[in-house]
Amino acid sequence: MPDIQKNIPLAPLTTFKIGGPARYFTEVRNETELLEALDFALENKLEFFVLGGGSNILFSDKGFDGLVVRLQGSASSDQKSAIGNQEGIKLARGIIECWAGENLSSVVNFAKEKQLAGMEWAIGIPGTIGGAVRGNAGAFGGEMANSVKSVRALEISGDRTNIIEYENGNCNFSYRNSLFKKNRNLIILSVKLTLEKGSAEDIENKMREIIKNRSEHQPKGFSSGSFFQNPIVDNPEVLEEFERETGKKALGGVIPAGWLIEEAGFKGKKIGGVMVSEKHANFFINNGTATAENVIILAGIIKQKMREHYSVLLKEEVVFVGF
Ligand SMILES: Cc1cc2nc3c(=O)[nH]c(=O)nc-3n(C[C@H](O)[C@H](O)[C@H](O)COP(=O)(O)OP(=O)(O)OC[C@H]3O[C@@H](n4cnc5c(N)ncnc54)[C@H](O)[C@@H]3O)c2cc1C
Repeated sequence: MPDIQKNIPLAPLTTFKIGGPARYFTEVRNETELLEALDFALENKLEFFVLGGGSNILFSDKGFDGLVVRLQGSASSDQKSAIGNQEGIKLARGIIECWAGENLSSVVNFAKEKQLAGMEWAIGIPGTIGGAVRGNAGAFGGEMANSVKSVRALEISGDRTNIIEYENGNCNFSYRNSLFKKNRNLIILSVKLTLEKGSAEDIENKMREIIKNRSEHQPKGFSSGSFFQNPIVDNPEVLEEFERETGKKALGGVIPAGWLIEEAGFKGKKIGGVMVSEKHANFFINNGTATAENVIILAGIIKQKMREHYSVLLKEEVVFVGF
């Protein structure tokens, strides 16, 4: 029987540190506990929400009126140093298999210990491997789609559930997107990864470079990472200006949302306790007092200006819950 708690604040469980309470809340460390928690929600006709590391989420100020099921890594905090012994991450015949609630960085470090290369780009991205697969997380030219062999997922339809194994080609991965993002009734249970044999030294060096790059370019503080997706722009004047100013090509018409927001003069713009970062304009930073309403207003102002001035429709990358 899962340990169901009531009225649990959600803000501390997200990197943005914003949001009201969950009416019901439980934490699970493996597939059996997750299935029990979902049974509880289905039996009691509660809406449920699967929370990973909370690094891509904005909970509303009133919270979530159902059951929040938080997926956690299999190791308890005092075992965390023994990453290689985590029950939830295994290596068999060259394939890494991990429980969806494992921390993404723990998976990357596990791969490094086994001298398997290909996931170095993901070091420093907060959240779980399940959340990363769902959003096809990516950085520095890498993305989850390149390493996923298959995904074991639970399909929920009405009060019936069914476990399905999806091979990479059936996961419909595209830029920050996947089958699991499009279909909320699919919950990722575990993930298999195929990586290349690599040298420990090369992997370590690459990871060090990426950590350095992140700390130089990414703002510190409470945020949910990049707030908007990078849009595809078809306005030739905007594309020309981008290429002239940055010396970069807008491949497929894709322009960084942060560049557009900066160009429009929003760096440092504040609404209540939230501000557009001075370091990276696609990061909204909560000074510790921001409400979800502050964030929605700031996002709305930016979206309207983008539409009027650049004919660009910005789409949120961050998931809004409980609105
Ligand atoms: C400082 C910072 C830097 C970041 N840098 C990057 C970056 O470089 N690249 C990048 O792609 N992202 C980046 N992000 C965004 C974020 O870390 C990723 O999107 C991450 O993969 C989200 O995982 P999570 O476990 O935190 O998901 P959550 O935020 O907990 O959840 C996000 C969504 O995924 C769903 N979800 C979670 N687990 C599962 C599951 N097992 N099955 C089905 N659905 C699930 C949730 O229901 C929710 O809809 C950054 C965020 C921060 C705060």
